[in-house]
Amino acid sequence: MSIAVVTGASSGIGAATVRQLRSAGFDVVGGARRLDKLREICEPVGARALQLDVTDQESVDAFVAQLDACAVLVNNAGGALGFDPVEQAKDDDWRTMYESNVLGLMRMTRALIPLLEKEDPGHIVNVVSIAGFETYPGGGGYTAVKHAALAVTRTLRMELLGRPIRVTEVDPGLVETEFSLVRLGNAERANKVYEGMTPLTGDDVADAITWAVTRPKRVDIDQIVMRPLDQATATMVHRRT
Ligand code: NAP
Repeated sequence: MSIAVVTGASSGIGAATVRQLRSAGFDVVGGARRLDKLREICEPVGARALQLDVTDQESVDAFVAQLDACAVLVNNAGGALGFDPVEQAKDDDWRTMYESNVLGLMRMTRALIPLLEKEDPGHIVNVVSIAGFETYPGGGGYTAVKHAALAVTRTLRMELLGRPIRVTEVDPGLVETEFSLVRLGNAERANKVYEGMTPLTGDDVADAITWAVTRPKRVDIDQIVMRPLDQATATMVHRRT
């Protein structure tokens, strides 16, 4: 059975991806910092739960040391902090976002390319965002890191050309997960993000990831952009009052 690694597997898109890749027949290893939540997701579906902090090289090394193969790497760990305009930007928020969304993705990819390359083919799926190619007021820190993650993904596609590793970028719009709670710090503000509109679910994104990794091996799905029907751009959202 092919092994799929999913980072950020303790909630949202990552948790749904663990479940769907298991259903598709993968042997799944989920990583995240909150081991209790991770186990709740992984154990019922027979996936392995291994603690992982993608911002910490020692944690990445310890995680990867427990793998003897990897056919699919889903770089999903990350998220946003705050909604401050650039003139009030908090250094720590920007640094933390860069550490998880960009350096974390790089660390996991660098560590797993040797195993991915032994597969026929290996596959890296980066969960980026429409924030990777759009901007919006208050989103300077998050859009900057997702633009960077997208640049790394497209660079990888070129650098790995000729080697047996596929590279896919999945760019969702609004998905209702713990994302807005983490970003805004309380449920009331988080719920307002989805008020009057129907967002995507983690399962919608997991479905796209699972589809991409189960294409014939000659096919590379380069980019999937998916938004709710109620969302045309990062700032244009149809809300029913
Ligand atoms: P979520 O429910 O908050 O999940 C984020 C996951 O990332 C959690 O499992 C969290 O687990 C993990 N994580 C965060 N920092 C980590 C670290 N340093 N090391 C390891 N794991 C870490 O949010 P989500 O919506 O599913 O987000 C998943 C990805 O989709 C993110 O990259 C996000 O930027 C992207 N995305 C989300 C949306 C959206 O609207 N929700 C849209 C586009 C893209 P622990 O806290 O347990 O470590």
